[in-house]
Amino acid sequence: MKVFKFGGASVKDANAVRNVSHILSLFPKDQLIVVISAMGKTTNAMEQIVDALWKRDEKRYLELIEDRYQFHQLIAAELFPEKHYYIYQQIEELFDSLKNRFHLPVSDNYNFEYDQIVSLGEVLSTIIVEAFMKEEGHLTTWIDCRKVIRTNHEYREGEVDWAKTEALVNERLIPQFKDKRIAITQGFIGHTSEGFTTTLGREGSDFTAGILAYCTQAESVTIWKDVPGMLNADPKWFDDTVKLQKISFKEAIELAYYGATVIHPKTIKPLQNKGIPLYVKSFVDPGAEGTVIQESTDFDHLVPSFIFKMEQVLMSFTPKDFSFIVEENLGDIFQQLAFYGAKINLMQNSALSFSILFDRSKTDPIKLVEKFKDQYTVRYNEGLELVTIRHYDQATINRVTVDKDILLEQRTRQTIRMVMKNK
Ligand code: ASP
Ligand code: MG
Repeated sequence: MKVFKFGGASVKDANAVRNVSHILSLFPKDQLIVVISAMGKTTNAMEQIVDALWKRDEKRYLELIEDRYQFHQLIAAELFPEKHYYIYQQIEELFDSLKNRFHLPVSDNYNFEYDQIVSLGEVLSTIIVEAFMKEEGHLTTWIDCRKVIRTNHEYREGEVDWAKTEALVNERLIPQFKDKRIAITQGFIGHTSEGFTTTLGREGSDFTAGILAYCTQAESVTIWKDVPGMLNADPKWFDDTVKLQKISFKEAIELAYYGATVIHPKTIKPLQNKGIPLYVKSFVDPGAEGTVIQESTDFDHLVPSFIFKMEQVLMSFTPKDFSFIVEENLGDIFQQLAFYGAKINLMQNSALSFSILFDRSKTDPIKLVEKFKDQYTVRYNEGLELVTIRHYDQATINRVTVDKDILLEQRTRQTIRMVMKNK
């Protein structure tokens, strides 16, 4: 068994869907579980729909639904010239029930409503893709992942119940391979014990591929992307990026931790536990080698990796009563930061102050100052950049620090992290 994952960009229009069919045809002998995300930017659009529902803005709700309807309808129209094809009715029914939802009782749990609605992006995507694969002659079946992956009741961040999921995989997914060769299913979504839909967190489809590979003891997972593999830096910030050919699970977890966004970090652990290699390959050039993430650490040091985080805020807290920064202060600070949803990218303490670095886009520094100003002198600096280099040397440091002032630096043997400001 192999598990494939195709993200939103790989099914963003009719040609992209045709390309998925082409890639599947390159594996005529394998049993495949194919995990698919919502098409293009549909998840963002679905989030807007939930927002309109929540604000009771019916006009906007219906407009946004109409826009998504047209988007999927257009892709279907290009893929299925036969107008009476069953897929049209399925699309119609799905959108009708979404429209009608506006006048049904709304739960008072936003995250619950979110999951019931946003998950439909994946459902739509997979019914269209699966129908097309059938037309193309692939021996496929459509699997409803809302009946396979079991989670707790944490809507929008469902935690997987591994034992139950494994049992459901054995009961509902594996038997399909008696007479089918390819199972097409949704990424990102699961269900509670009562059968309500949950989601696994944004960009969670990679994780779905990891879960299903773990539960089926698959021989490998391949994530098909619009890049040639895992690169040593985001091309957005860096001109001459290099592809990482082979890295360890451990290294991939480190890179994801520091902010590399190629693979959802939760994906790697289940694969590491069972020693299942993860390939990252280009859907544009499926014959090319890509990156393989596997057990051996022998290759990790070959290419230095750079991870950039922009628009950072560096904030320091000094207790006003001149007490040293000790456990009670830190406990208090952390609790408040968690309350404000601040995600800390780096921290440092000294005898008299404690500093944190966080994303400006996620946390408003003014709010934190307000909160802490009675007990602490709070200072902060905005518009900073955090660069992390794995497997650094002096040349790589020089390369990223041109015209920068370094405000803070942390080094271990493998990793250097620098908070910098333009000179
Ligand atoms: N469609 C979901 C998202 O965009 C899950 C995924 O693509 O991985 O977050
Ligand atoms: Mg997506």
